[in-house]
This record gives sequence, C-alpha cells and structure tokens, in this order.
Amino acid sequence: MKIVAESPYRFRIEPFGTMRVPGVVFASRALLPDPDHDKSLEQVIHVAALPGIVRASYAMPDVHWGYGFPIGGVAATDIDADGVISPGGVGFDISCGVRLLAAGLDRAELVPHLDGLMDALDRTIPRGMHGGGVWHVSGHRELEHVLRAGARYAVEVGHGVARDLERCEDGGAIAGADPDRVSARAVERGLGQVGSLGSGNHFLEVQVVAEIYDEAAARAFGLHPDQVCVMIHCGSRGLGHQVCSDHVRTMEAAMSRYGITVPDRQLACAPANSPEGRAYLGAMAAATNYARANRQLLTEATRHAFARHTTAELDLVYDISHNVAAIETHEVDGKRRRLCVHRKGATRALPPGDPELPPDLAPVGQPVLIPGTMGTASFVLAGVAGGGAFHSTCHGAGRVRSRHQALRSVSGRRLRDELEARGIAVRGTSWRGLAEEAPSAYKDVDAVVDTAEGAGLCRKVARLVPIGVVKG
Ligand code: 5GP
Ligand code: MN
Ligand code: MN
Repeated sequence: MKIVAESPYRFRIEPFGTMRVPGVVFASRALLPDPDHDKSLEQVIHVAALPGIVRASYAMPDVHWGYGFPIGGVAATDIDADGVISPGGVGFDISCGVRLLAAGLDRAELVPHLDGLMDALDRTIPRGMHGGGVWHVSGHRELEHVLRAGARYAVEVGHGVARDLERCEDGGAIAGADPDRVSARAVERGLGQVGSLGSGNHFLEVQVVAEIYDEAAARAFGLHPDQVCVMIHCGSRGLGHQVCSDHVRTMEAAMSRYGITVPDRQLACAPANSPEGRAYLGAMAAATNYARANRQLLTEATRHAFARHTTAELDLVYDISHNVAAIETHEVDGKRRRLCVHRKGATRALPPGDPELPPDLAPVGQPVLIPGTMGTASFVLAGVAGGGAFHSTCHGAGRVRSRHQALRSVSGRRLRDELEARGIAVRGTSWRGLAEEAPSAYKDVDAVVDTAEGAGLCRKVARLVPIGVVKG
C-alpha cells in the first residue's frame, strides 16, 4: 500500500489491484491508523473496489475498523452506471445518530437540581440491550406509520412540537420508506422499542457549553456559553439490526447474478437500481424513520424529566444520522450525477446556502453533532462551502481500543468514581458497559475535530463538556 501525504490533513492511497478509485484519508500523521494494528485502511482499499464508486473511497479522521466498510467511511456510487448499495456501508445500527437539545438555563441554575434530574432521567430513559421503549406503539399498523413518517408521525400524534421537525434532517422523515421490505422478524423486534437508548455506546448526556468558536453560528444554533444542553445518541435498535442482517443475506445470494465480486464478503452489495438494491433502500429508509421517531420519543421523555425539576424549555438544535445512505446529486467530472452516498460513522455537513437547510440556518450551514466521550468533550460543528467527501465529516472521536481491550484495562466502578469526583453524575446500566466506553478507549476528540476542520470538511462552532451521563 502506497500512502502519499497530500497535505498535513489529507493522505492518498494510490489505486492498485482491484481498486477503481484512490483512497483518501483525512487525518493528521498522528491520527493515521497504523496498518499493523488496525485494518481500517485495508477496508478503505476494499471499498474502493465497489462497482460504480466515484471519486474516492474516503476515511474521516475518526476512522476505525467496522463490518465491511470502516466506521468513518464515505463512498458514493453512480446509480445510473450500475453503482451498488452495500448494507455494510450503512452499518447494523441504521440511522444511528445524534440530537442536541438546548435548554433555557445555565449551569449554575441547574447544579442544585442536577442529582434529582439525573435520577429522573435514570428512571425514565429505557436502556440496555433488550429493554422496551417509552412508546407503546399500538400494533403493526401504527408501526407502519412510524416506518413511513418517522419523527413527523411522532409529532403528529403529540410527541413533540412542529419546530422539532424543522431541525431534523429531511423534516423528520426520509423519503422512499417501504415497510413491506421490513421483515416480520424486524417488525417484531421493533414494536416495543420506540423510545429507548439501547446498549453501550448509546447515551443521553447533560452537557454545558464550555467554549464558543464561532459566535454568529452559535447564535443561529441557539447556543451560548455556560448553557445546559442534552445530547442523545441512539439508533434503530433491533429493527435496524434485523433489516441489515436480512438484506446482507439476500445480497450475498444475488451478487453472482449481477457478476459482482468483492474483496470482502462483508461488502455484499447489489446495484442500487436492482430489485435487491431498491428493496434494501426501502427497508433502510423505514429503519431510518424508526430511528428518528426513537430520538423524538426520548426527547419527549427528557422534556418531562426536566419539567419535574426546572422550568426550562428544551429546544431541538438539530438531529443527524451518522449511519445512512442517501440519494444525492453531485457534480462528478463536470456532470451532475445521481449518487448513492454511503456514510457510515460519518455525518453529512451541508454548506451555507444549501436549499435543504431551514431558512434560519442557511446563512451558517448545517449543525453537525460530534459526541466525544463521557469524560472529555463533545462538539458542535458546521458545514462549510467546498467541503470534501460529498459534504461529509467525522461522527465522533472514534475507537482506538476494542471493547474487549477496554474491559481488560478499565474498571467500571473506578471510572464511575473518577467521573463523579470530577463533577460528572453517572447513571449506568452495567459496570461492563461503562468500562467498554471508557474515555481511554477513544481517540482524542479535540485532535479529531481539529483535523476535520484543518482538512476543510467543517468548522468548529462550540465545545460541550458533560455534567451528567445516562449510559446505555
Ligand atoms: P458510534 O456511533 O460509532 O458507536 O459512536 C459514535 C461516537 O460516540 C464514538 O466515536 C465516541 O466518540 C462517542 N461516544 C461513545 N460513548 C460516549 C459517551 O458516553 N459520551 C459522549 N459524549 N460520547 C460518546
Ligand atoms: Mn448506534
Ligand atoms: Mn452512532
């Protein structure tokens, strides 16, 4: 593998073997994965072999190993030139994502009530691998509404306010959902879980704005220094996982019919325009809507918990998905082309003036929400003009140690005590879950975000620090 430094924040892997396009890794030298210990660059190379891929196989600064595609990978295929869709390029937690709520109160006003609030959140936010959600969807018919209309349906039936939808990607529901492509098993798994965090890496965090880098953008996003915020990270639970498993299996069987070979079985795929491709895209959109309704219901539960302990309102800053494939039009080689843009562990970052942004955000660009760790910081970024990788940026700090490695080196109890001693209230589900998500298991989020900004993918708006964490 030949890696060339193109700038301090951009490396290029020259095409060789089955690669159809180069690999482009947005990283500093320090963040560049070590091929001896991390297979993610090998995965970037494999992705570059996908039929119909255009421009490059991209890696964000938080890249690490994932199923088929790396986490932190972006790849776009040309739909009208037999470009493929690969479920592994979206991931098992379809539309896993983040939303940020801005509270109408500052840290000093909340601190006296923090313990009570954290206990209320601990009681009301369902989590863990198999837990049920806060919303008891009445049955298959109602779930179908969730799959078709996502957060929009949730708000229509009273679980939120109209303004919430203005601050969700796609107005709260992505188009093209096809509930008929979601298996009975997936539906069964999803019925009871709307409004639940799930396990481990998912969380609900009470945070404080510690630093503002861009006053005008922060004002447009409704953020100011010392303000209390809530960040929610979760996805499509068992439903999304089942959709991914089902469609990977179908595509594994279909690939030979389309004459497709891939360097790694986990890259199972089919032309986006084929029956199998369209079926997956319809099911993926349904799972995406499920995840958005999920985050909407957790927002409502959070508002109720806040209402018991404060008089503050919680406004949605934005809701983003960081595991999704989107059909977008981009100019490639001087031609407008319809692309299937896979973003897995990567966030869309629309530039100022993009027609998809609500009018009040258009002058500053799309808010991008980056969780870091429960013991360090998280960030709010904004999309920039000319952003690379089809307007994408990182999605988190990114793992450096596997869950298994973290478990061996960290004690969950000691971690809890350390965080509490630093003024971060912890409400966990298991000691194991806490240890697996220890800050030491992740890259330095400040370095990741500086690299993303240095690479011209986004710009920094605000830095948030945790004061209370509810862990999945
Ligand atoms: P993923 O979607 O890849 O599971 O996680 C996204 C990012 O969330 C990770 O790369 C990590 O930086 C961040 N993260 C994981 N656990 C926590 C947490 O408890 N609090 C915060 N703020 N971030 C977290
Ligand atoms: Mn997830
Ligand atoms: Mn996620």
